[in-house]
Amino acid sequence: MKKIVVLGSTGSVGKQTLDVIKRHKDRFKVVGLSAGSSWEELARQAEAFGPQKVAVRNPEAAAKLRERLASTAIEVLEGQDGIIDLACMADADMALIALVGISGLLPTLRAMEHGKDIALVNKETLVVGGQLVTATAKRFGVKMLPVDSEHSAIFQCLEGEDVGKVARLILTSSGGPFRTWETEKIAAATVKDALNHPTWNMGSKITIDSATLMNKGFEVIEAAHLFGVPLERIDVVIHPQSVIHSMVEYVDGSVMAQLGTPDMRLPIQHALAYPERLGPAWNRLDFRNVPTLTFEEPRRSVFPCLDFGYQAGKTGGTMPCALNAANEIAVELFLKEKIGFGAIARIIEKTMEQHDFIATPTLQDLLETDRWCRAYARELTEYVPAATHVN
Ligand code: MG
Repeated sequence: MKKIVVLGSTGSVGKQTLDVIKRHKDRFKVVGLSAGSSWEELARQAEAFGPQKVAVRNPEAAAKLRERLASTAIEVLEGQDGIIDLACMADADMALIALVGISGLLPTLRAMEHGKDIALVNKETLVVGGQLVTATAKRFGVKMLPVDSEHSAIFQCLEGEDVGKVARLILTSSGGPFRTWETEKIAAATVKDALNHPTWNMGSKITIDSATLMNKGFEVIEAAHLFGVPLERIDVVIHPQSVIHSMVEYVDGSVMAQLGTPDMRLPIQHALAYPERLGPAWNRLDFRNVPTLTFEEPRRSVFPCLDFGYQAGKTGGTMPCALNAANEIAVELFLKEKIGFGAIARIIEKTMEQHDFIATPTLQDLLETDRWCRAYARELTEYVPAATHVN
């Protein structure tokens, strides 16, 4: 029986994780759950799964949940400290971290220090603190199992192989909802347009990141840290059908690919069960439904966020942290319809340029860079030309 803490259990991946655990009750036990403020959903999950502890970031929501769970033995923690305590809880074997943005960094590091294996959904943790996180995993002898579908695919294609014989990693991307749109039309895209992802059903932040291709920019950095392959040997190819989840090309030219339906429960289950495989399948790939698999080059000049990922990853230091902080703010403002879609990339580029770069940052430096860049990015939006506000 593997005992699991799910951080971010009321989000899209969190809910799908509980689906997986429910189907395999004989293998997995939920010992902790956390949410930001969705206390009613968390209450329902706690009643269904009976964890020892739950944590809620928002103190008012925590108070309401405490009242609701008063007649149970479930302990309710609150705030960032509560979420970190949950990630470290003595009884857990593994923490699945499905938090959004930099909020996953500290809980991941602390869970590792307490010997927990990590099922990593939260790619921003590796984008911002990749060196620190991989060094911490090594030092405490814990596993980092990717839940991101591309990285789960690469992980599976590397199984039993020598990573020294990898010629390149090839990440696939659906291309997002604007793959075939004209440039001018993209700049004026609405929130509804951007949330209309062609193949994957995900939370709103990552769906916007998929529309800008920032998500793919993050994923190349994530892959470099997870697999120890330099960015020069990581490629991105647009594959609109989302059937091939990613590929590994070896030095002899042989290419291994992992295929499946676009269903997050497969990579989630792979990470939870590793090194075992559990059946039955959630969905089987029926090749009669996918007669054609196509591939194209990303439109780099139309979607500059992809190259921002490469640039930040190659520069290292605080640059990926600045990239992430600016993106979090820009996406938040876009979702609130305060800025246009085209402004997201400009805010990121400017923040990366203007922040005080540190080549070998400590955790404190990263947190300070994050704070400064968020404030700067927010301020920048006041000067975004009016035309980009058009939605
Ligand atoms: Mg992905």
